[in-house]
Formats: sequence, structure tokens, C-alpha cells
Amino acid sequence: MKAEGILPTVGSKFDELTGLYNREAFFREASLLLGVRYDVNYCIVCMDISCFKIINDLFHMETGNLILCTAADYLKSILNPKTALGCRTTADHFILCIPSEELHIEEIIKNLDSKIQGLHISHNILFFAGIYPVEKRDLPIEQMCDRASMALKRIKGSYLTRYAYYDAKMRDEMIEELLITGNLEVALNERQFTIFLQPIFDPKKNKIVSAEALVRWFHPIHGMVSPGKFIPVCERNGFIVRLDRFVWEEACRFQRNLLDKGKPIVPISVNLSRLNFYSLDLPEFLSLLLAKYELEPWMLKLEITESAYTDNQTQLWDMIHTFKSMGFAVLMDDFGSGYSSLNMLKDMPLDTIKIDMAFIRELEKSERVAIILKFVVEMVEALNMGVVVEGVETKKQCDYVSSLGEVAIQGYYFSRPLPMPEYEKLLDKYPMDEE
Ligand code: C2E
Ligand code: MG
Ligand code: MG
Repeated sequence: MKAEGILPTVGSKFDELTGLYNREAFFREASLLLGVRYDVNYCIVCMDISCFKIINDLFHMETGNLILCTAADYLKSILNPKTALGCRTTADHFILCIPSEELHIEEIIKNLDSKIQGLHISHNILFFAGIYPVEKRDLPIEQMCDRASMALKRIKGSYLTRYAYYDAKMRDEMIEELLITGNLEVALNERQFTIFLQPIFDPKKNKIVSAEALVRWFHPIHGMVSPGKFIPVCERNGFIVRLDRFVWEEACRFQRNLLDKGKPIVPISVNLSRLNFYSLDLPEFLSLLLAKYELEPWMLKLEITESAYTDNQTQLWDMIHTFKSMGFAVLMDDFGSGYSSLNMLKDMPLDTIKIDMAFIRELEKSERVAIILKFVVEMVEALNMGVVVEGVETKKQCDYVSSLGEVAIQGYYFSRPLPMPEYEKLLDKYPMDEE
């Protein structure tokens, strides 16, 4: 039986570093094994290490190699040479083909962790696994590995869940993602994207103080696609940079249109996805936009989500300073939703904080949340910044929030995001804040 080749004899079938199979040999041998052992139920397992790249950067490459060899030695010790196979494909990626009943995944992960901890490397090194239980033997082995890897991607970086099994829902989601990706370009060219505007309201003055531009996708066949579905895809594949620019331009065009009609306007805030900060021409793009539509910088505000802070703080700081020197107000979106809210508040010269709607959701259930909200508003006011509370849906929530201070609200209680003509009508009805 071919599967006996698991033993570490170095040769062209084997990965030189670890002595496990290399990728090509593994694919070949695993196909043969699955084709022969119909009597056994198998799993394909993809494994890798959290932040392996960082480990290679922080420590010497030898340390990285030592980790890989230690892991490989342990895997060899648990793989039965008669029924199981293992390989290292690239870097820290291991794949196993193992009988389901021999796969004690929690134990494997626990043992791998403790073997690595035994090396006394001062970094938290964790193993993650994605598992595809082989149902269709005629599926090419590469696709089986893709499925296991899909399950792995799902949990990568979530420190509480260390392994996941592939299920058909993941495949549907991947197909949906591919469909979205394949349609974005056409959607932009055919103007399937549009913006809705959600007014932001000052409950004490009874005035609309600004609005947020939110992108909407009306697909000719699938109807409205929710931003919750396509924005993450656009962020993964980089399309968000073009989409954001489209949204900013639509917001500017809308403002110009109102001004041309002789109407007063309030600022529109637009979202800047974190990927934008890698485009060095961003300030230039924004100033060209203002020039093109003959707008002043106060007419557009820039929302930056809290999670952008973790990427590259110096670059973000420089960019925010540039925006401010150009005359833009900069808002921190989704405050309190991530891990770096207070750091961002401490370091960045922001004008307004938008408190994440998770707080409002919990308000009535938890007195602690009410207290946190109260002090966040107090703190932000003491720092001379404005506050918007997102997701206000009821009168009770609105009353509580406005009792806290000079707080603006954004939420269904005052208005949902509206198509541009409806927003325009609402502006006509309401007094506005004079800038
Ligand atoms: P966000 O920037 O925090 O926008 C606020 C979201 O909260 C919007 O969802 C809005 O419709 C929703 N919302 C407002 N009031 C309420 C309320 O009272 N209750 C509830 N349940 N929801 C409320 P939307 O439009 O689905 O957008 C979701 C997220 O997608 C946005 O969160 C933003 O992160 C992103 N997004 C939307 N448009 C754009 C865009 O043009 N560019 C980028 N980069 N991201 C966008
Ligand atoms: Mg926003
Ligand atoms: Mg928000």
C-alpha cells in the first residue's frame, strides 16, 4: 500500500524541511488512498498557525523552522502509516488525510500547542484546523482541500474556536461571494449602485444637522443586495476604493444640485473604508471633487471606522491631519465596537464620535450600558468633540440619549436612510442647522 510513504525519507516526494509529503505527492497519494480504502471514512484537515508571518519576522527563520519541524514530528507520530497521510504545502500550511475515527482534533490541537510551548518562544503560537469530512470520493482532492481550507478561513484569528467543520452553507456563501465579485464592475458601469441619505437629527433643537450617505445596490435580477453582504466582499477584493469614490461623488453631486436650486444644505458624511488609506492620491481626489462640484469642505464630512486604527496608525494620523488641514471634519464611526476605541480617541484629532448602535440595543437591558453611555458622552464633550448616537429607534431611547447632553441621533426613530428625492423633501420640511 502506497500510504506507507508517510515516513520521513527525504526525496522529491517530500518536503525537505519537515520530511512530510510535499503538496504534489500528497495530492497523488491521497487520491490513491481514498480510491482504495472505501471501507474507511476519511477527513481532509487543513491546519496552520496564527500569525506565522509575524513569528518569522520577529524571530530568526530558524525559529520558524523549528516550530514547523516540531509540529511535523508530532503529526508524523499520530498518523498511522497504513491509513493516513500528511504534508506541508507551503509556509505553515499542513494538510492531513486521516480516517475520521482517528481524528481527535481537540487533542491534536492541544498537543500541538503544548509541544510548541515546550520550545519556550515568547509568542503565543496557536494552531487552527479546518476539516472536510469526505462525502463524495469522486471530488478532486484539490477541491476537498479547498473545502477544508474554507472552514479554516472561517475561524482563523478567532482565539476561542480553534477548528471548524466544512458545511454546505460555507460553499453557498463562497458562491455568493464569487457572484458578487463577478458583478461589481458591471454594476458600477450600469449605475446599479446609488446612495441613500439618512438624516442626523438634533432632538433638542429639532433640527437636521447632517446626513450620512449609505450605498445601495439594486441588482436587475436579484433586487436589492444588502451592504452587509457586498461591502465585506468589496473590502476583501479591493473594489471598495472605487465604490467609496463613487459614493463620495454622488454625495457631492447631490449637494451641488441642492445649491443650484438655491436650497440650504447640511453636511453629508461619507464612509471611508480603511483600504483608502493606502491610496496616496486620496487627499488630491477629494480636493478635485470639491473643485469639480464647487463645494466647500464643510459640506462633506469623513467617517472613519474605528477598526482602521489597528492597521497603520502613523499613516492614519498623517491622513487625518491632512484632511483637517483641508478643512474637513473627521468622524469616528462605530465607536466602541472594536478594541481600540480609547486609543484612537487619545491619539487622533477627531471632530465627532459616532457611538456604535450596539450600545443603544443594550440600553434597556443593562444599567451598566446606560452608565457607560452617560460617561462616554461626558468624556467626549469634555474633549470638545461632537457625539452622534447611532441606531436610535424609539422615543424612549431618544429621550434618554438627549438627556445626556448635546447629542445628535441617527436612527429609524427620526428617519430611515432615504432615496435622494425623499431626503430632499424632508430637508424642505425641517429647519436646518446653519453652518
Ligand atoms: P455605518 O456606517 O455604521 O452606517 C449605519 C448603518 O446603520 C446603516 O446600515 C444604517 O441603515 C443603519 N441604521 C441606521 N439607523 C438604524 C436604526 O435605527 N436601526 C438599525 N437596526 N439600523 C440602523 P447600512 O446602510 O446597511 O450600512 C451598513 C454598513 O455598511 C455601514 O455602517 C458602513 O459600515 C457600510 N457602508 C454603507 N455604505 C457604505 C459606503 O458607501 N462605503 C463604505 N465603505 N461602507 C459603507
Ligand atoms: Mg458610517
Ligand atoms: Mg456607524
